[in-house]
Amino acid sequence: GIEVQNVSKHYGSFHAVDQVNLSIKTGSLVALLGPSGSGKSTLLRMIAGLETPDEGRIALIGRDATYQSVQDRNIGFVFQHYALFKHLTIRENIAFALDIRKKPKAKIKERVEELLELVQLQGFGDRYPSQLSGGQRQRVALARALAVQPQVLLLDEPFGALDAKVRKELRAWLRRLHKDVNVTTVFVTHDQEEAMEVADEIVVMNRGRIEQVGTATDIYDHPASAFVMSFIGPVN
Ligand code: ATP
Ligand code: MG
Repeated sequence: GIEVQNVSKHYGSFHAVDQVNLSIKTGSLVALLGPSGSGKSTLLRMIAGLETPDEGRIALIGRDATYQSVQDRNIGFVFQHYALFKHLTIRENIAFALDIRKKPKAKIKERVEELLELVQLQGFGDRYPSQLSGGQRQRVALARALAVQPQVLLLDEPFGALDAKVRKELRAWLRRLHKDVNVTTVFVTHDQEEAMEVADEIVVMNRGRIEQVGTATDIYDHPASAFVMSFIGPVN
């Protein structure tokens, strides 16, 4: 799992993330939910090791990993605009992280075929990203992130750029994928419906702090604060 202990990130006097404590169980699918500017991406980037906390520590799988490199942590990422390499085929895109790790060619080939099947894009391996739909591209991005068999998969608004219908399809699809792969997954969204539909557990953030952690039902039925009530609750 992931242990976030008293983590803060300041920009000047502004607290983007403010003394956050969070425990994410191994194998769970967790949503970081909150309005724009609430610190979701900053927290995710610290979990990823792309940014260092000013205070506190983040440990992965029981050992302190705060200052380990992203490579050492074996983390997979997908960002909203984390583009695929345009001049590489789908197969080459997925193989990229394995190629730079100098894995044996035969192993890479086998793994890439497995991944294409996992994201249901068999037969698309020789195409280029421009020849896929937005939803298909995000599935390639997920396959690429999973290529290294990450301990943790981090997704920052992975479906944000897609239209409503495709988003909906991908939500269901992400749940299935998570069931198959069962990797600890944290995904960021500002969409209440998306969080409720996809995640086992929702972390509601506001102004750099955690307002509530719970299942969709917990949060909907028993909002812990006026903020949670107005952001997610049955009021509107
Ligand atoms: P969104 O839903 O819009 O992506 P978010 O919850 O992901 O929002 P963050 O990107 O984590 O929010 O930003 C949290 C706050 O920290 C924002 O007010 C942002 O302006 C500020 N912030 C983030 N990065 C920096 C930076 N490099 N320098 C200064 N301020 C920053
Ligand atoms: Mg963000």
